[in-house]
Amino acid sequence: MSSTLRFQIVGEAFKKRAVEVPNPEERPSEFFAKYVFTRQKMQKYLPPEAYGKMCDVIDGEASLDMATANAVAAGMKKWAMELGATHCTHWFQPLTEGTAEKHDGFVEHDGKGGMIEEFTGKQLVQQEPDASSFPSGGIRSTFEARGYSAWDPTSPVFVLGDTLMIPTIFISYTGEALDYKAPLKKSLKAVDKAATAVARYFYPDVRRVVCNLGWEQEYFLVDEGLYAARPDLMMTGRTLMGHDSAKNQQMDDHYFGSIPMRVAAFMKDLEIKALELGIPCKTRHNEVAPNQFELAPIFEETNLAVDHNMLIMSLMKKVARKHGFRCLLHEKPFAGINGSGKHNNWSLSTDTGILLHGPGKAPLDNLRFVTFIVESLMAVYRHNGLLKASIISATNVHRLGASEAPPAIVSSFLGKQLSDLLEHLESSTDDELINLSGKQTLSLDIPQIPELTQDNTDRNRTSPFAFTGNRFEFRAVGSQQNCAAAMIVLNTAMAEALTDFKQRVDTRISQGMELTKAILSTVREDIKTCKPIRFDGNGYSEAWKQEAARRGLDTETSAPLILDQYLKPETVRMFSDMNVLTKAELEARNEIKLDTYIKKIQIEARIFGDICMNHIIPTSTRYQTQLIDNVRKMAEIFPKEDAERLNSPNLNLIRQMGEHNTFIIENVERLIEARRVANRIRDGRERAIAYHDTVAPLIEKIRYHVDQLELIVDDELWPLPKYREMLFIH
Ligand code: ADP
Ligand code: MG
Repeated sequence: MSSTLRFQIVGEAFKKRAVEVPNPEERPSEFFAKYVFTRQKMQKYLPPEAYGKMCDVIDGEASLDMATANAVAAGMKKWAMELGATHCTHWFQPLTEGTAEKHDGFVEHDGKGGMIEEFTGKQLVQQEPDASSFPSGGIRSTFEARGYSAWDPTSPVFVLGDTLMIPTIFISYTGEALDYKAPLKKSLKAVDKAATAVARYFYPDVRRVVCNLGWEQEYFLVDEGLYAARPDLMMTGRTLMGHDSAKNQQMDDHYFGSIPMRVAAFMKDLEIKALELGIPCKTRHNEVAPNQFELAPIFEETNLAVDHNMLIMSLMKKVARKHGFRCLLHEKPFAGINGSGKHNNWSLSTDTGILLHGPGKAPLDNLRFVTFIVESLMAVYRHNGLLKASIISATNVHRLGASEAPPAIVSSFLGKQLSDLLEHLESSTDDELINLSGKQTLSLDIPQIPELTQDNTDRNRTSPFAFTGNRFEFRAVGSQQNCAAAMIVLNTAMAEALTDFKQRVDTRISQGMELTKAILSTVREDIKTCKPIRFDGNGYSEAWKQEAARRGLDTETSAPLILDQYLKPETVRMFSDMNVLTKAELEARNEIKLDTYIKKIQIEARIFGDICMNHIIPTSTRYQTQLIDNVRKMAEIFPKEDAERLNSPNLNLIRQMGEHNTFIIENVERLIEARRVANRIRDGRERAIAYHDTVAPLIEKIRYHVDQLELIVDDELWPLPKYREMLFIH
């Protein structure tokens, strides 16, 4: 791209810079959840009886009746209209990874020729959007296109712009889930039931167990004008070509660096909007790659945390445009530098405290801690392949296994102290309880610096499932994915592990064993069983791949084959035993995932071919012709020997360009043919495999030649913004 044009684009964007001066009068504590119908607002806007009933509904202690729904709708309407809302929508999470909404105005005929604002309990509770255009994996035939969206009262409604947003689940006419929320809620119920039963061994008064999720969202920002000049970025979310920038992340100078002004203004704007919507934003920082950043809120109950993550992703995209940016949520927008993930910090807690919280004072606390750690490991061990399947996608594959993210093998890192503890428990034959004191202090011996409390864990950034103090951090989730997919698998697997654990403990007790002994022997048994999942070494090493295979862990790297995990008998059994997903639903989901995989690569291959033939080859040929012209003219003005010598470098370039052009043209033909062959395959799984094996690798092969041409062709002629332009301009 010509530098004059680039200068114009960036100059325009820079005008949008609006560094807002903070207003000390406005504090997050004051505007937090301004646009959310919280319990406090319910209390204000609902009749006392309806309010009491709603609290019970939210706490899972009552179900909703129509009279209450009508009273709630009336209160909600009043509140929303005071904020300027004119419309409402059910807001759901179909299997497209995004969210869906269909707005209806509050208007209704008043019967006298005028209009009134109306919003009823029925509209709040249930809608019937035509579901035929959402992926359903064949669950719904087109003649029965109805789907239902049904209100989820545990996630509060909110006002976004002029619309009252109502979080809902989305199911088919015959009751199968067509979304993420319905099975997520079932998995949360399953883990609540199983974990409460086990927690009661230690604390008999426990009433319920809640699953917490704290996500960390990574993203890139690029200038909107430059984005608009990259058809690949616009169509696929990533750059399909582009040579490395001379400087990228090798200086480690971006991570935690000072936040660029324009970005800081964007972050501030985003945080305020998010806080107003009840998203408890806490952390912001520069990430490793240039122009890469992270946002993390304080953790929340998982269902709400998932909704908030979906909401923040859409807010990020909107707010970015206000600041002249485009927000990239793709897992790998740029080759050669780090991609983006979404770490999912996961834990279980009771009404009395966090179950994964490190060793306490009482011996029973320690046993509780060890039990929940070991059963988490059992869940991950048994379903390590499935957990990987829950986060695999055509886009996340570019990140997994590269030296920036977890490898494509799920294992767990516990840190030395916890590993030692498990080793000790496993080998100790006596039934003494381990008396592990809490946090140790670390004396730094630096004057004026206080002693630090040392976490019970150290860190291992290559581990996909690392214990980090009072939670596990699942790091393989992709930046644009719905966290729910991973959370459904993890919680269901945990529910299964705990149910199974409890059965074995109870059997021992019924045989006359004392409670703590029964727990300890069962834990010891499981420590041995799940040992292969524990790995504290370097997850990137070649040796680990071989070792993991020896241990029986899943080492598959091909996305379509990884997806087979959803249909394995042990998966089907787990989901059906825990009452989360039926076999039919799993089959449908699998079909959708394969289909999405195919379409993503198909789109990439199409746009890649277009850019090669319409942008790259014409530009390269034009420059080549200029050089040829130059060579001819040089030959005219210089004596033969001089001309030969002076023309030699250009002749060499002309030849190189000829080779690259030929390779590109021939292989774009092959790419089209490979797609044609793949498209003729009727079976979805086989078609996805063909796309994986024949289409995707060709793109990478051709890309190399395009990137080489970028190094040769005149910068003024090059049609696409380059990496160094997109990554370093704020
Ligand atoms: P780091 O990058 O060091 O892993 P961050 O501060 O970026 O940490 O994010 C950590 C996330 O984990 C935050 O969302 C935080 O609220 C969340 N978190 C902390 N404790 C728990 C817990 N017990 N369960 C779930 N999430 C937690
Ligand atoms: Mg982090």
